[in-house]
Amino acid sequence: MQTPAQLVGFVMTHLQTNSNNKPETLCERAEQHSQRVALTTESGSTSYDELITLSSIVAKQLLSILNTEDLSESRIAYLVPSGLDHVLIQWGIWKAGGVAIPLAVSHPPAELSHTLEDSDPSLVIVNSLYREKIQEATNGDLLVIDSSELVDGRFKLDPNTPELPSVNLERRAMMIYTSGTTGRPKGAVVTHSILVAQITSLVEAWGWEKDDQILLVLPLHHIHGIVNVLCCALWTGASCHILPNFDPVDTWNRLSKGNLTLFMAVPTIYILLIKTWESAEPNIRSRWSEGASALRLMVSGSAALPKTALERWEAITGQILLERYGMTEIGMALSNPLHGERRPGYVGTPLPRVNVRRVDENGEELGPSTQEGELEITGPNVFLEYWRNPKMTEDSFRDGWFRTGDMATIDKGNYRLLGRTSVDIIKTGGFKVSALEIEEVFRQHQLVTDCAVVGIPDEDWGELVAVAIIEESSGEIEPNDMITWAKQYLASYKTPRAFRFVTKLPRNAMGKVQKEQVKLLFLDSSET
Ligand code: AMP
Repeated sequence: MQTPAQLVGFVMTHLQTNSNNKPETLCERAEQHSQRVALTTESGSTSYDELITLSSIVAKQLLSILNTEDLSESRIAYLVPSGLDHVLIQWGIWKAGGVAIPLAVSHPPAELSHTLEDSDPSLVIVNSLYREKIQEATNGDLLVIDSSELVDGRFKLDPNTPELPSVNLERRAMMIYTSGTTGRPKGAVVTHSILVAQITSLVEAWGWEKDDQILLVLPLHHIHGIVNVLCCALWTGASCHILPNFDPVDTWNRLSKGNLTLFMAVPTIYILLIKTWESAEPNIRSRWSEGASALRLMVSGSAALPKTALERWEAITGQILLERYGMTEIGMALSNPLHGERRPGYVGTPLPRVNVRRVDENGEELGPSTQEGELEITGPNVFLEYWRNPKMTEDSFRDGWFRTGDMATIDKGNYRLLGRTSVDIIKTGGFKVSALEIEEVFRQHQLVTDCAVVGIPDEDWGELVAVAIIEESSGEIEPNDMITWAKQYLASYKTPRAFRFVTKLPRNAMGKVQKEQVKLLFLDSSET
């Protein structure tokens, strides 16, 4: 068996096949960045040259294990913590011509089992930490290998293994399972060219540069961490500092180290960071605040950013968070500006090369009216298909536009999200009500820490507006007082009639509230 060093030599002399293909895939483009630092992880720093060489070894190993010269879009799933191995495996799959399926380390076996059954991969790569979980999820039905053995080049290579295949941009590259906030998770497939379109739109809009350094604390099974953070950094020749998972104190310390320029996270993470800052000693607080204030950009997305969090973050760090909107199927679509006013509660204007329109219930395009409409998207950033689900793919497009299921209004070209048609738009007493709007109001109340608004079936109202509240301290809120208070800010028909008090809200791995589960809190009785 060859040692890793021998393998590096072999790969370096044999793998120069793609460099003249223009335009490039993400992996091809990395060759321009040679000695720059691509990643900083628990394993130390990795240059672009090392990333290229080591991921080529992974690619060779994969071809050898599957006994082929080209993975030809075979699907390879991997359950590996964020870090160097994760990226080497992602790139190794791409270089060998396969489709990468990142699995969520936080998912229980039952959920992994659904993803594996649906995606039907040729191989599953697993870190030893999750071996048991995968065994439970696969029932021994799939070929499973150990991630560190793969990355260390420990599988036997056929000495005649040919060069790596040439991977053109139209090949399928990745399948991300949607977070399943509505229905069972579906595999959204993107090609290399779609991936590049999603990356380059953000690189342009947010002014990514080679000297940028970004901290990655988001999970690597979701578009936010994969595309917006990791892939944008690697496309640009910037450095990505990867933490194995999110830890608020660790994150604050890294943010205040002085070398970072960018940070991107979901609202839940910003809220946890705020709480951690508030409970820290004054001298630590000022070090953290000063450090975070030096970054050039901080971005929030994947769920609505509460105005209270936006304002508190600005008070603590001086940073006005840039809020953007996107989804697994389309990459990012709307963003507040890098320079210029970032309007609280708004998600900005269309990103470069992304076309956005709003339609009414009949699919008629709405002009710049204030009327609410469903967002539809076209552009090179839109995904190819739902895996093995042509019917669902077809149904999710209207005349070539992807139907997002998100409702929005527009004001002076700026979009404001009202929520998802399926769960956040409540039809009560003949009115349409946005759950996000009501949540925003309730979060302003001093006794409310957080809340989630849902519609529950009701004979009189069609749907009744209901709110689950986390109280600042338990037992202090009187529902009737809340109704009176809320009526100062909300039309009577928008004011919640049913209340539940909880200690936490059901959330998925990305911190998004699972509205279907919130509804269940109300379905056992109709107490208000
Ligand atoms: P995912 O595919 O997991 O990224 O989820 C996409 C969904 O997250 C969108 O369809 C929206 O409903 C929601 N979303 C993304 N960004 C925002 C945002 N800035 N504000 C409110 N909702 C958002």
